Amino acid sequence: MSTQCIKEQSNTQPISIFDPQEEKKIELQKFKKSKVCAECKSWIIRQKSVGCGICEDVYHLSCMRPKLTRKPKKWTCTRCLELKNTFPDTNELEIDTLCGRCQKHVQCDDEEFCSKCSKVFHSKCYGPKKVAPICIFCEQQKPPKIKQNKNLVQFLPLKISLKNQNSFILPCCIYDDTLRERCFNSIQYALYCQNISFNDDLVYDSVQKQENNVALEKLEPLTGKDLEAFKKYKQVTKHGYYAPVIVEYNTDQGFYVKAVQPIANNTLICEYAGEVFRFADQVYSTSDSMMSLLETSFAATSLVIIPQKYGNLAKYLSGINNTKKNSKKQQQNVKSQRFNVEGESRVILYACRDIRTGEVLYYDYNEGGFNYNTRFFV
Ligand SMILES: [Zn+2]
Ligand SMILES: [Zn+2]
Ligand SMILES: [Zn+2]
Ligand SMILES: [Zn+2]
Repeated sequence: MSTQCIKEQSNTQPISIFDPQEEKKIELQKFKKSKVCAECKSWIIRQKSVGCGICEDVYHLSCMRPKLTRKPKKWTCTRCLELKNTFPDTNELEIDTLCGRCQKHVQCDDEEFCSKCSKVFHSKCYGPKKVAPICIFCEQQKPPKIKQNKNLVQFLPLKISLKNQNSFILPCCIYDDTLRERCFNSIQYALYCQNISFNDDLVYDSVQKQENNVALEKLEPLTGKDLEAFKKYKQVTKHGYYAPVIVEYNTDQGFYVKAVQPIANNTLICEYAGEVFRFADQVYSTSDSMMSLLETSFAATSLVIIPQKYGNLAKYLSGINNTKKNSKKQQQNVKSQRFNVEGESRVILYACRDIRTGEVLYYDYNEGGFNYNTRFFV
């Protein structure tokens, strides 16, 4: 060790892991990005919530005591008030509430949050349209449109029969060249907005692939024509080309997927892709796109998929609201099902009825088995 190193080290105050003030700081950092109500821990929608001006923690208006019916102009949560009193001379906690464009303070009732750069903006500074999924700066830096490899599209049939099919079928090719390219790029754009790299497969980073062992759970094997169709479709989707759908955005629903041509019952839509985790490590995850992969009745050996850094179209399909009467029957047009694909569990999304042009694709998050809270899906 050089003398310079020793000198530097001696200047640094040792930080104890159990320092309660340090712990509070870490806790604050952890909660900063959460999108669940800090009180009841269930999913939140922006219009019916109030955010802390310092830590971005959000609460349902109904979860605040006393209950609020209208958003207050400026509000600080009790934890931040406490932290502010603990660190009176630090303004570090307030940096995040400065606008990413004009650098002036942002009031919580006039804020727009960019999911890509994680900066907060005044709504007028956010972008030309308030309805954009990302801020004006991230929008300007988006990559150029990708030219599609047309040879791949030839894998897909040009016509589909709408007769009852008992096995999986390949989706029909999008006839119009311009529309096909627009659909293809809409998926790339949505992934860009959320800092997700396109990947059409399961990504085994934090668990070994062998841990996804279907011997631990009885799953329906994918065989014969179904397996053949699935393998063929994977060749096309590996390059980002999917069924005739487009990814769109609005401020209420976020991203959603819409059919641009009719899709027949039993048509393959996509595989649910992303990083594989042990369920035991994700019990407190606030992710809204966690999907069950393997259910062994033990959290330590059960697996889930969370598209955090890698993902595909599957992340953008909307979940149905299970608690609304009849909503399942009316909305659901896609089914997610786990299959034993040559010894490995895979989640396949397919049309469970004929889908008309213009219909939004909905599936049931709870079909996987774990009980997710779907009360706040639009
Ligand atoms: Zn709540
Ligand atoms: Zn706060
Ligand atoms: Zn501003
Ligand atoms: Zn941004």
